[in-house]
Amino acid sequence: KTPKRLIAVSNRLPIRIVNDGGEKRVVPGAGGLVTALAPVLRDRGGIWIGWSGAPHDPDLSGLIHQASKKTGYHLKAIPLSEEDIKLYYHGFSNEIIWPLFHDLQTRCRFKPSYWYQYLNVNKKFAEAIRQNAGPKDYIWVHDYHLMHVAFLMREMGCTQKIGFFLHIPFPPMDIFLKLPWRKKVLEALLQYDLIGFQTMRDKRHFLNSLSQLIREVKIRGRGSISSVDFKGRSIRIGAFPISIDYQSFARDSSSKEVAEAAWYLHEALPERQVILGVDRLDYTKGIPERLCAFKNALEHYEELRGNVSLVQVVVPSREEVPEYQELKAEIERLVGEINGRFTTSGWIPIHYLYRSLDRTELLAYYRLAEIALITPLKDGMNLVAKEYCACNLDEKGVLILSEFAGAAAQLHRGAIMVNPYDVEGVSKAILKAYRMPYEERVKRMKHLRRVVKRKDIFWWVNTFLKTAFAKDLTAFPVG
Ligand code: UDP
Repeated sequence: KTPKRLIAVSNRLPIRIVNDGGEKRVVPGAGGLVTALAPVLRDRGGIWIGWSGAPHDPDLSGLIHQASKKTGYHLKAIPLSEEDIKLYYHGFSNEIIWPLFHDLQTRCRFKPSYWYQYLNVNKKFAEAIRQNAGPKDYIWVHDYHLMHVAFLMREMGCTQKIGFFLHIPFPPMDIFLKLPWRKKVLEALLQYDLIGFQTMRDKRHFLNSLSQLIREVKIRGRGSISSVDFKGRSIRIGAFPISIDYQSFARDSSSKEVAEAAWYLHEALPERQVILGVDRLDYTKGIPERLCAFKNALEHYEELRGNVSLVQVVVPSREEVPEYQELKAEIERLVGEINGRFTTSGWIPIHYLYRSLDRTELLAYYRLAEIALITPLKDGMNLVAKEYCACNLDEKGVLILSEFAGAAAQLHRGAIMVNPYDVEGVSKAILKAYRMPYEERVKRMKHLRRVVKRKDIFWWVNTFLKTAFAKDLTAFPVG
């Protein structure tokens, strides 16, 4: 039996602050997680607790409170100071956990000041939950910014059931061991009642680190749900691949508006096949590596010249961080170099868009692209891969997918799988996709669409919550 009220907790509230001619407005956010949780929160009078995304401003807190009327559930903003944002968010979260958990430990800056402020901010969250949650509420905390919340709530005497879902990967033990606060993080996580990972691989990595670092644990079960006994508590550990609202993507991409946009965009790209990349600006996405592979393909396979174009969309992100500015410069240098070398009259190899797309335009690109080239160096899931499949109405698109995306665990049979570091391998995959006969394309894409449709975002929410409340896990297979 599921509980009455759900308290969702994440670093960011599911809202956007828009500036309307100098006047601030708060509008509800979009995205899969919000779409899936909103009905659960609405039906049960739930609360979403998180940071607004801006430094503390009392006017904003009022606006956010008012926005609750539009969302149908309560929004509770956690005020963060400039110092909090610098050390907890940019520091601990994005300069330590983000790179480390994506296996890029050389990018980490293990500063003790980051750690202390991370604990302070997690305590702010814990305190706000304690004040707002009733004894019977279920608390669901999201992602790597908030790993310590349950631990700090237990210190305050809270006994509610608390679940946690890690949206990013969990690294292999050898990498996790580099974290100066590794044992504290693991012990803190064990104060949750259910810990969810994206894939079996992440779950296995976590359990390996656990058995290495914490002697007292006893691990039972090797399937998609295990349980861990620790200091008299029993903690469930599961793999729950997050997904998208399949129906809404399939429906919206069949609209006249999207069909027309797709037609116009393809008209402007008269090459026979369009290869699409869509990524947030981030070093985990493997964009320079992908551009090098595309260059290699053009160098070695003459038939691709004039017959394919890569549309690479890069969505601006963390633009104030020098590392991200350097990445942007590197991408732009490579695009310039490749276009400078291969462009002929009437053909441009790479169309580069550095901006975010509106939904119609994004869906149009998903619909029109004959090939999607998705090659992150490591990714928790990669929703773009699933969205591409959901929008591929004529079922003849080819998905080239990195082995190191969480999505690979579900999509490996229909996609062409690649190692994103293997320039020649990715280059060959591009040729294979380009040459793939119609029948094979359809067979693969039909399979991919079935997989994405069967386990959509609503399946994900239900499965997580059912696992949290199931009395007997043996009677509840999750696969
Ligand atoms: N997306 C977006 N604006 C764009 C292009 C894409 O918001 O201009 C969305 C896309 O639809 C997807 C998300 O950004 O839902 C990216 O999710 P993904 O899991 O692929 O990567 P993340 O950015 O979370 O690492």
